[in-house]
Amino acid sequence: MAPEAQPVLPPLRDVIAAHGLQASKALGQNFLLDEQLLDRIAAIPGPLKDQPAFEVGPGPGGLTRAILRAGARLVAVERDHRCLPALAELSEAFPQQLRVISGDAMQIDARAEAGDNAHIIANLPYNVGTALLVGWLSTEWNPLPWWSSLTLMFQMEVAERIVAKPGGDHYGRLAILSQWRSDARIAMKVHRSAFTPPPKVMSAVVHITPKPAPADVQLKLLERLTAAAFGQRRKMLRQSLKGLPGALDALHIVGIDPQRRAETVSVEEFVEVARVLGRS
Ligand code: SAM
Repeated sequence: MAPEAQPVLPPLRDVIAAHGLQASKALGQNFLLDEQLLDRIAAIPGPLKDQPAFEVGPGPGGLTRAILRAGARLVAVERDHRCLPALAELSEAFPQQLRVISGDAMQIDARAEAGDNAHIIANLPYNVGTALLVGWLSTEWNPLPWWSSLTLMFQMEVAERIVAKPGGDHYGRLAILSQWRSDARIAMKVHRSAFTPPPKVMSAVVHITPKPAPADVQLKLLERLTAAAFGQRRKMLRQSLKGLPGALDALHIVGIDPQRRAETVSVEEFVEVARVLGRS
């Protein structure tokens, strides 16, 4: 079967020049202009043909084009009004596929806008990226969250904290939140030179797919437990969990040595302790 004809679009550099989209540091703007790289990022979630998708911060529309070329029905929210005319041109080039919301991703109800089972794909602004991720990971799981997958560009240091395994400095609350009911991996490392302007550090695309949550574990308790444990990460659990009622008993029931430090405790072990805590 012949591939579907794609609209011919002007180079992204021309779009940026035509609409005067000089990058704003305050809005975390580091644009990606390499269309092959953008197509590879849009391929990470798997086939997108006719799938709902949600993008934060389309900017001049590089990643947006790639998601649209893959055939998704996309809702994109952008805070920078200067980008709206360029995005309107993309809406015309891909009829019925793109809806742009002018607004702040921190304020809108992504589920209501994008619809259930949406793939969330974004080159996130660094200043709100982690907060948005925590929000998506903290949503209700019934038996899965409303979104199908997360494909998100972060600074490398944040990406490493998301996928970290026990034993290292990167392992902490974000790793546990990201992994206790999801699989999280670094799907692609992206050199700083790929961005315009280049940021100071390397970046990586993290791919997160949800799985059914372990039974009888409350997110609130798991969060309280990991906040206490990693609040004093160099201390033994015996010390760091002292202030959390029932936690030391729960450690004992699960069979975790209270002399261990939080960074040695696996995600599964934290989940077990939270489950027992929930019963007390
Ligand atoms: N997607 C484009 C790309 O890959 O080239 C731009 C990515 S740039 C890293 C981040 C984008 O997010 C910018 O377009 C910026 O204006 C937008 N942005 C920043 N804060 C935002 C917010 N709170 N809500 C929605 N968009 C935001």
